[in-house]
Parts: sequence; structure tokens; C-alpha cells
Amino acid sequence: MKLKEKISFDNLKQKVIEKGLCNRCGGCVSFCSADRIGALEIGEDGFPRYADKEKCLECGICYLICPQTHILKEEVEDEFGWKAPIGLYQDIFSARATDKNILKVATDGGVVTSLLSYMLENNLIDGAVVSKKTGLFSRKSIIATSHDELIQAAGSQFSEANHLEKMGAEYTTFVPTIPIIRELAPKTPLRLAVVGTPCQIQAIKKMQVLRILPSDVIIFTIGLFCMQSFALDDLMKRKFARKHRINLKGIVKLNVKEDFIITMDSERTVHIPLEEIEEIARPACLACKDFANDYADISVGGLGSPDGYTTVLTRTVTGQRIYTEALHKDYIENKKGNSQLISVEKSKTLSLIEAFAERKRKRADKRLNEIHYRPFLAPLLKAEAITPGRNCNDL
Ligand SMILES: Cc1cc2nc3c(=O)[nH]c(=O)nc-3n(C[C@H](O)[C@H](O)[C@H](O)COP(=O)(O)OP(=O)(O)OC[C@H]3O[C@@H](n4cnc5c(N)ncnc54)[C@H](O)[C@@H]3O)c2cc1C
Ligand code: SF4
Ligand code: SF4
Ligand code: SF4
Repeated sequence: MKLKEKISFDNLKQKVIEKGLCNRCGGCVSFCSADRIGALEIGEDGFPRYADKEKCLECGICYLICPQTHILKEEVEDEFGWKAPIGLYQDIFSARATDKNILKVATDGGVVTSLLSYMLENNLIDGAVVSKKTGLFSRKSIIATSHDELIQAAGSQFSEANHLEKMGAEYTTFVPTIPIIRELAPKTPLRLAVVGTPCQIQAIKKMQVLRILPSDVIIFTIGLFCMQSFALDDLMKRKFARKHRINLKGIVKLNVKEDFIITMDSERTVHIPLEEIEEIARPACLACKDFANDYADISVGGLGSPDGYTTVLTRTVTGQRIYTEALHKDYIENKKGNSQLISVEKSKTLSLIEAFAERKRKRADKRLNEIHYRPFLAPLLKAEAITPGRNCNDL
């Protein structure tokens, strides 16, 4: 790829951040070529900005690796063999962990935790980048190097976005995992697996296409399906809780399949249609096109599987091999049934994934159209659910 003109963070500001498309993954700041001399920083609003513009080398890396730009699209598609409509895949399964302790804490069937556990215990990786629960509403990225640490990181819930403390609490399902990869020294002799949403996996794949260190330490990616991440400030939190008659502090588990599923303390389960939940989606998510995590080695979600099972798309040859080995070594088990029925279920689930992928692409096209033709919307989108100074007293 040859760049016709110099690209810098100014382009990212103009094309992504000011248009309300930044999903605050932290990739540009973490992998800025001038990060050691402090060209960029994360602002108080959680969005990237210049710390010192004079230090920018105008190398364009921040722009190229941003998951919300598409300048590297062809290179990434070619390198990872993308095929329409949901990327390359070898097979599809409905599976679950064989370990009861994993099943107890998993979001769906605990396949993610089991696969990572298999790879760690068989010395195929040295660690896995996952997000660990640190409190009722907090999560942080860690590199798990043991089975216990993987179990502590299983499942999903709302997290408090710590960098926004000054602006009041925000609860979100998005956990930035990219910055922790940057903390590894270049050439660290590690072999890591990463679990991430499509935007996170895309940023990593772009770094790998550009051979940016230390992205070479990531040898395996498990991609979560993702229709959207959610963000709530105090005001939205109160409104949401009242509308759906739930106590947010009592949430045991959050899950997204055909709809948004909230499991409460009391074993009560609340189902909310995805269209209804879009009011608490992070605005950047509404312009994001990748649902099925098209570039991961293995993609997973709850969509299409019965409760307690994970839907698994094995994508690359390595992904298929790891899955088969974990199956043979009894870390996971496929859903049982007669082979004809399983084959019908497989094609039904594939159609469902393709339909969700199409739905997400259409939603993004609509949103991008609005942003291009109604530019006055951009500042509103960038504001996200966070409004400084707004709190429960405003109700
Ligand atoms: C923000 C988000 C949106 C999702 N949207 C959908 C959807 O629309 N449709 C669908 O079918 N499935 C969706 N999923 C995936 C689904 O919820 C399950 O994570 C997936 O089925 C794996 O289940 P499991 O039981 O095998 O995973 P587990 O064994 O429970 O492991 C889950 C892994 O995900 C990691 N993790 C949890 N939260 C995050 C996060 N925010 N960022 C990065 N890693 C995280 C954990 O650390 C853990 O390693 C989404 C997941 C997330 C986090
Ligand atoms: S030095 Fe490169 S990566 Fe950093 S802000 Fe400037 S253009 Fe972006
Ligand atoms: S989406 Fe990520 S890489 Fe792109 S501007 Fe926002 S923080 Fe930077
Ligand atoms: S929808 Fe999911 S993949 Fe897309 S930006 Fe939001 S969190 Fe990332």
C-alpha cells in the first residue's frame, strides 16, 4: 500500500473522532510511533487527543490501525483470506465446557475459557489477554497465565470506565484490551492469545499487516460476536433501571443472543429486544460493520445456540486444529444429537449469523450516511451517554 499524501493524527481527528466514530479502544494512543515522547494522550472525556502536536512524526500509523478507518481494508482482507459475507470459516459448532467450574461462571458455554485453558496447560501459549472482574462494576484487562486467572475472567458484565471518574460514573460493556499489549516490551518472547470484540481484533490484525511490534506476540485470536457495546451514565442508568424494572446492582450476568438478556440475583431473567436497547449503545458502535469478528482464528457468541452452549465458528486452519484438539482432550464437548439434525441446526445458525451481520452492516451504512450528510450530528454522537455535570439529581 502506498500513501499518496502524508497522514497524521489530524486526519484521525477529522475523519473519526470529530465525526463521533471513535469507540475509545485506545489503539491510536497505545501504538503511536511517538508514544515514548508523548505526542498523544487520552483526554478527560476518554477520547484521544494531541498531548504535544510538535512531537507528531506524521507517520500515519494511528490512522491506519484505527478500527474505524478502512484504508487497509484490502490488505487485511487479502492477508487473512476474507470471504463474503462473514469472512473465512471452516466449520460451525454448538459446544460447552466439560469443567463444571467454568460452566458456573461462563457467559454461555464457557468455550472461550476452556480453549484458553487447553492452550495454556498444553504449553501452546504463555498467556491470554482477557478482562478480569475486579469488583461489582469493574473489569480490567490482564494477561492470564493460569487456569484460575482464566476462571476469574470468564463471563461478562457492565464495567466502570475508570478514566471517566472525573465526569461521573459510566457503566459500559466495553473493556479496552489494546493498551495492555503495548505495555509488553518489543521482542518480548511471549506467545499470547487475545479475546476481543471485532474492533479490538481488527486493530490487532491491522498492526500485524503493518508488522508493528509487539503485535507479533499475538499468535491466536478468539473473537466475540458483537452487535454493540453499551454505556450508561448515572442519568441513563436510572432511566434504564426504571424502564425495565431492574436493580443494576443485582445483575449477575449480561448476555446478548437474539436479544439482550439480563440475569438477576433472584434468578429472574429480563429479555430486551436489541432495537430497544440501542438507546444505550455506544454511538460509535452504531457505525461499526463487523458482527461475526471476521478476522479472528475462532469466533464465538451465544447466537443460535441453546442456553448453556457457545456457538463457535472455526475460521483459520489453526483455529480448527486447536478446536479439534481441545475436543479430543475433553476440554469441551459438542452438543449431542443425530448427525442429520445437527447439520440442519448448523445451517440454521449460519443463516442467523449472516442475517445479524447484514443487519449490523445496514445499520452502520445508515448511521454513516447520517453523519456524512448531517454533519451537525457529529458533536452529539461524540458526547456519548456522558454529559459532564449531569447526575441523578437532574431527574
Ligand atoms: C461487549 C460484548 C458484546 C457481545 N455481543 C454479542 C452479540 O451481539 N451476540 C452474541 O451472540 N454474542 C455476543 N457476545 C459474546 C457472548 O456474550 C459471549 O462472550 C460468547 O458467547 C463467549 O461465551 P463463553 O461462555 O464461551 O465465554 P467465557 O468462557 O465466559 O469467556 C468470556 C471471555 O470474554 C472475555 N470478555 C468479557 N467481556 C469482555 C469485553 N468487554 N471485552 C473483551 N473481552 C471480554 C472474558 O475475559 C473471557 O475471557 C458479546 C460479548 C461482549 C463482551
Ligand atoms: S507520530 Fe504517527 S502515530 Fe503518533 S500521532 Fe503522529 S501520525 Fe499518529
Ligand atoms: S477508535 Fe481507537 S484507534 Fe480509532 S481514534 Fe478511537 S481510540 Fe483511536
Ligand atoms: S459494536 Fe462491538 S466491535 Fe463494533 S465498535 Fe462497538 S464494541 Fe467494538
